[in-house]
Amino acid sequence: MNAIILSIGDELVLGQTVDTNSAYLSAQLAGLGLAVSAHVTVADDQPAIEQAIGQAIGQCTVLLISGGLGPTADDLTRQVLAAVMGVELEMNHAWLHRLRAFFAERGHRMPEANTIQAMIPRGASMIDNVAGTAAGIDATIGACHIMVMPGVPREMEVMFQRDIAPRLAQLSHGAVILSRTLHTFGVGESRVAEMLGDLMRRDRNPSVGTTVSQGIVSLRINSRFQQRIQAQQALDETEQQCRAQLGDLIYGADGQPLAEVLGMMLIQRRATVAVAESCTGGMLADYLTEYSGASAYFKYGWVTYANEAKISQLGVSPQVLEDHGAVSEPVVAQMARGARERSGADYALSISGIAGPTGATADKPVGTVCIGLAHDQAVQTHTFHFSGERHTVRDRSAKMAMTLLRFHLLGKSLPS
Ligand code: AMP
Ligand code: MG
Repeated sequence: MNAIILSIGDELVLGQTVDTNSAYLSAQLAGLGLAVSAHVTVADDQPAIEQAIGQAIGQCTVLLISGGLGPTADDLTRQVLAAVMGVELEMNHAWLHRLRAFFAERGHRMPEANTIQAMIPRGASMIDNVAGTAAGIDATIGACHIMVMPGVPREMEVMFQRDIAPRLAQLSHGAVILSRTLHTFGVGESRVAEMLGDLMRRDRNPSVGTTVSQGIVSLRINSRFQQRIQAQQALDETEQQCRAQLGDLIYGADGQPLAEVLGMMLIQRRATVAVAESCTGGMLADYLTEYSGASAYFKYGWVTYANEAKISQLGVSPQVLEDHGAVSEPVVAQMARGARERSGADYALSISGIAGPTGATADKPVGTVCIGLAHDQAVQTHTFHFSGERHTVRDRSAKMAMTLLRFHLLGKSLPS
């Protein structure tokens, strides 16, 4: 069994309204064990809707449609559905009565235009709408089960929960899909895939897939079984296998932010951190202070963009700057040491790099970033080469600095 989700509306294809209905419905269907094979979006245009429905019914067992059930001339879904079914629209007198009552309760006479909302294709049945005037439609064409909902997200959601979900649960015989997402930072997506090996085989259940967003490589595990308990056991088992392959590269699950994870680790150790930033301009301090409770571990931050600032505020040696350049491991070492001493924090992180697009030299291309970490035993320094635009280089630098501290707290080194 598979489903296709069809969204109808000019505002959606024009980009004026973001199609949140499809995202909502996909998430709900996953919970019901129904795989979604496509999202389709079309304008309020008769031929386009007709073609979309005509194609979908040959490709899925469940077609969920939202939008175009209103009373105005651009709302065409019911007419087109009747045409594809090859039947007429019929008046549903019970719903017409409900509509009149709906308006009367609000002290209005029902506009003639709303009469169309009581019409459905012959052979289809109505789905109650307790939140508005557009009733839903339940129909079948061949082997495809079609359910039409209003476009207004709240009305669609109420109808889905109240009437559609129970019907779908019956159709899918109670199968469930349970999901978990694990997040990594520090190595690329292909390296993560390599480490996962056979766990990423396409025919595996639970399945394991990777996605990348803002440098964070996430693993999405989907476990699809008839019984919830089976799905849960298999999901837990696959998660353990993924963790065995990737180890501490996995910093969190299900949307947990890296900065929050690091913050909790510092709190557990009653440790504090200070930062000395150049090319990131305060981004690292921003990330580290994004979550409530940051005052427990975040002490102090410097944005020392100019060489003079690195010298006067952090005690970096003019000679070292002269000999190695501002983007160098000796300079970030002194920045980190200076920040640690002057703040009294347990740890200090420093960043100096070339965020671009200008500023590159022959031996230091755009994306070259040096990061230092000072702790009670020593200062460790690293050089990275990040690719991407200015914002990307800055973002990756800040995340990498947090990752270095995280691995240091774990007593491990970053895998390559
Ligand atoms: P309709 O049922 O087509 O009259 O849609 C009513 C309103 O619901 C539209 O004007 C949109 O603002 C909103 N809407 C319709 N479809 C969607 C969708 N797929 N996602 C989010 N909002 C929607
Ligand atoms: Mg519409």
